[in-house]
Amino acid sequence: MIIVMRREASKEAIDNVIKKVESFELKPVPLYGTERTVIAVIGDERVLHIDSLRAMEGVDKVMPVLKPYKLVSRETKEEDSVIDVDGVKIGGSEICTIAGPCSVEDEEQIISIAKEVKKAGAKILRGGAFKPRTSPYDFQGLGEEGLKLLAKARDETGLKIVTEVMDTKHVKLVEKYADIFQIGARNMQNFNLLKEVGKSNKPVLLKRGMSATLKEFLMCAEYIMSEGNHNVILCERGIRTFSDYTRNTLDLCVVPAAKELSHLPVIVDPSHGTGKRQYITAMSRAAIAAGADGLIIEAHTKPEESKSDADQTISTDAFAKLMQDLRPVAEAMGRKI
Ligand code: PEP
Ligand code: MN
Repeated sequence: MIIVMRREASKEAIDNVIKKVESFELKPVPLYGTERTVIAVIGDERVLHIDSLRAMEGVDKVMPVLKPYKLVSRETKEEDSVIDVDGVKIGGSEICTIAGPCSVEDEEQIISIAKEVKKAGAKILRGGAFKPRTSPYDFQGLGEEGLKLLAKARDETGLKIVTEVMDTKHVKLVEKYADIFQIGARNMQNFNLLKEVGKSNKPVLLKRGMSATLKEFLMCAEYIMSEGNHNVILCERGIRTFSDYTRNTLDLCVVPAAKELSHLPVIVDPSHGTGKRQYITAMSRAAIAAGADGLIIEAHTKPEESKSDADQTISTDAFAKLMQDLRPVAEAMGRKI
């Protein structure tokens, strides 16, 4: 259920509605939009006296939210959400580019890559310190040492940093260093982890599970938001299909579909989506044309020497060229990059 307040509703009227909802032992979640405030009601709404709410001062309408994801839904919030990462915006008119290696490997590697991608126009640096690897014998990441190196790269370049958190026991540690938590595809439905990052106020980049339906994906975003953290960025990174020509099948139709159903920003990861560096430019262009709010790209100064995901990693020079190639597409979509 949502309670839509009138444009001119006073703060006092909004607070009174919040108190009224609380009196029914339900959870009110106020969403303060630029135009008007909407109060989402979480819990078993059958106990609510809808008519008494409708009659309250400042209330415009009381409407059911039909979708199972309430806070994520466009029914609850019509306008697009823009996630502000300390001044870097994801979801506004500018396409936000995130770039960096699959894994943080050593100081020289991450700092040199950070400098190059910054020069090319990236706003956020990616790099895994805790890596979810298919084989236990593969490089698992540098752990806290990797987080420290990312923080150093941020200090040197001013780029924000996004890095994966794989375990509830590492949430506080990753929060200390990162600007954005990444929840990887393999952990999309790790509900305890979702709840834990939901208690933080740092933005969360939620990657779609490799066999997740759109509804399941959005329900996972709801887990995070229901804990109080509304700063969620959805990321399409390819799904597993019968097609084995590419590592995954990049589901670009999910971009307009997710934006139809939800107000959250949607970004695309063509690196994991294809697994092959020669397709990154085409799929990045297509992602922007499909309405994506950003891209996350694996880039390295020596891509073939990457300790993980070498085949899909482009060189930092190729990344600079990619940014140029994307400009006309962004402009055609009425956006900047
Ligand atoms: C990654 O970003 O390096 C990664 C492991 O991504 P995903 O969870 O999408 O596989
Ligand atoms: Mn990777």
